[in-house]
Amino acid sequence: MTRAVVVGGGIGGLSAAIRLAVRGWQVTVVEQNAALGGKMGEVSVDGFRWDTGPSVITMRHVFEELFAEAGVNLSDYLTLLPIDPLTRYFWPDGAQLDARASLSEMAAQVAQFDPRDVEGYLRYLAYAAQIHRITGPVFIYDRPPRPKSFLSVPLLDWPKADPFRTMDAAIRAHVRSPHMRQFLGRFATYVGGSPYEAPATLNVIAHVELVGGVWYPQGGIYAIARAFERLAREVGVEIIAGEGVSAVRVEGGRAVGVTLADGTALDADAVVCNVDVATAYRHLLPQTDAIQKRLAGLVKQEPSCSGFVLLLGIEGQHERLAHHNILFSRDYPREFQQIFKDRVPPDDPTVYISITSKTDPSHAPDGHENWFVLVNAPALTDGFDWATEAPRYRDLVLARMAESGFDVRGNIVSEQVLTPVDLQNMTGAFRGALYGASANSKWTAFKRPHNRSPDVAGLYFAGGTTHPGGGVPMVTLSGKVAAELAVEDAARA
Ligand SMILES: Cc1cc2nc3c(=O)[nH]c(=O)nc-3n(C[C@H](O)[C@H](O)[C@H](O)COP(=O)(O)OP(=O)(O)OC[C@H]3O[C@@H](n4cnc5c(N)ncnc54)[C@H](O)[C@@H]3O)c2cc1C
Repeated sequence: MTRAVVVGGGIGGLSAAIRLAVRGWQVTVVEQNAALGGKMGEVSVDGFRWDTGPSVITMRHVFEELFAEAGVNLSDYLTLLPIDPLTRYFWPDGAQLDARASLSEMAAQVAQFDPRDVEGYLRYLAYAAQIHRITGPVFIYDRPPRPKSFLSVPLLDWPKADPFRTMDAAIRAHVRSPHMRQFLGRFATYVGGSPYEAPATLNVIAHVELVGGVWYPQGGIYAIARAFERLAREVGVEIIAGEGVSAVRVEGGRAVGVTLADGTALDADAVVCNVDVATAYRHLLPQTDAIQKRLAGLVKQEPSCSGFVLLLGIEGQHERLAHHNILFSRDYPREFQQIFKDRVPPDDPTVYISITSKTDPSHAPDGHENWFVLVNAPALTDGFDWATEAPRYRDLVLARMAESGFDVRGNIVSEQVLTPVDLQNMTGAFRGALYGASANSKWTAFKRPHNRSPDVAGLYFAGGTTHPGGGVPMVTLSGKVAAELAVEDAARA
C-alpha cells in the first residue's frame, strides 16, 4: 500500500489526507497541537465559547465536493446555515448597510447612499461574476496555472479579468459613494491584502460572498474541523496529535518520511506538508543550497496581513448587532498605509465583530454574548513589540468600538487576547501572516509556491501559503491539488 505522512492537521492537511485515503493510500496525519484544525480553533471559558480563527465561510460547494469524493453527504456531518444579513456594516457618520444576497433588499439600501449606485452595484456584480467565470478554472479550481491552462481561455476574455488596475480603481469605476467604495474594497482583506494595491481581479471575492452567500456551521466554525476529522478517521486516516514533526527526511533528493520530535521515524512514499511553506523550508527540510535559495525567495515576498483578536464575554444583548458586523474606520487608505507601508497597527482600525451566540445561543450564558473581535494588523516586524504593546492596543480597539456606539468596557466578564505572535506560535504561520504572501501584487497567483515541491521529489504542499491561497475553502482545494499530484506521481513511478 502506498503510504503518505501529512505534516499538520489544519484544514488543508485534512483535505489532502481524506482524499489520499479515499484513493486507497495508508495515511498518517501528524499534528503538533493536541487538537486538529490549525488556524481554525475554538476556546471555551467561563461558560462562553468562541471560534478563534475563521468566522466567515463561503463556497459551500467546495465542502460538498470533498465529502462526495468520500461517498458521503456533507449534511450528515455538518449543518451549514445561511447567514442573513451576510454582514452588517456601520460607518462613523451613522450610516448602516445590511449586505444581503437578495438584490431587491440590497438595491433599496444602496440607493440611500446614491441612487446611481444601484446601477453601478448591479454592473459591479456582473463584472465580478465575469471575473469568476474567466479566472475560476485557471486560478481557483484547478492546479497551479500552467501554459496549458491559459489556452482554454479565449484571448478576448483575458483583459476582462482586469489584472492591471487596482481593486479600488475598478470599484471607483462602478460606484460613486464613499460608503459603497469602502464596502466593496473590504473584500481585499479576505486574502490579507489592500484594495489600494491588490489587482482588480480580486473583485472576484465579492462575487463569491455577495452572490454565493455566507454559511455558518451549526455548533461553530470549528464544527468544520470536527467534521473533517471524523471523515478522515472513517476513511482510515491515522491521526497522531500532540507530537510535532522535527524534520522531513530526504534521501537522494526524495522525501522518504518524517522524524517526530521524540525521534520516532515514520516512513512514507510521499509527504504532504500542511505547514506554512516558508516555515517548512526553514525548519523541516535539510538546508541544501537549493532549499536555502528557495527560502530566500519566499521570505522576500511581502506577507499578507496578520490579525489582533479579542475574545470577549459580554454581559447584555446588543440588538443593533448582527452575527457578522463591521465598524468601518474613518480613513480607509490611511489604515492600509499603516498596515502595509508603515507596518504598525492602525490607530483608527476597522473593527470586525462576530457573535455566534446570535445564531447559536448556547455559546454564551443567558443574557450574555460571545464577541470575537478582529482587527487587521501588520505581519510581524522588529519595529513593533506585541509583548509590551498589546494591552495599549486592546484599549485603543475598545475605545474605537465605543466611538461607534458599542461601549462594552464596563460589561466584559471574560476576555482573552490573541496577537500576531500567538498566531505565529500556535500554527507556524511565518510572521503571523494569516494568508501567506500578500495578494497586493498582480503576480501573487504566479509566485505562490507550487503544491508539488520543485526541490524534493515526493514532497507536496497543502494549505494557505500554497496554491490556490488562503481561506478555508481555498485550503480545502489546495489539499485536493496536493493529493491529486501525489497520486499522479505515484502512478508514474
Ligand atoms: C484570526 C483569523 C481569521 C480568519 N478568518 C477567516 C475567515 O473568516 N474565513 C476564511 O475562510 N478564512 C479565514 N482565516 C484563514 C483560515 O483560517 C486559514 O486560511 C486556514 O484555516 C489555513 O489552513 P491551512 O490548511 O493552511 O493550515 P493551518 O491552519 O495553518 O494549520 C497548519 C497546521 O500545521 C501544524 N504544524 C505546524 N508545524 C508543524 C510541525 N512541525 N509538526 C506537526 N504539525 C505542525 C499546525 O499546528 C497547524 O495545525 C482566518 C485566519 C485567522 C488566523
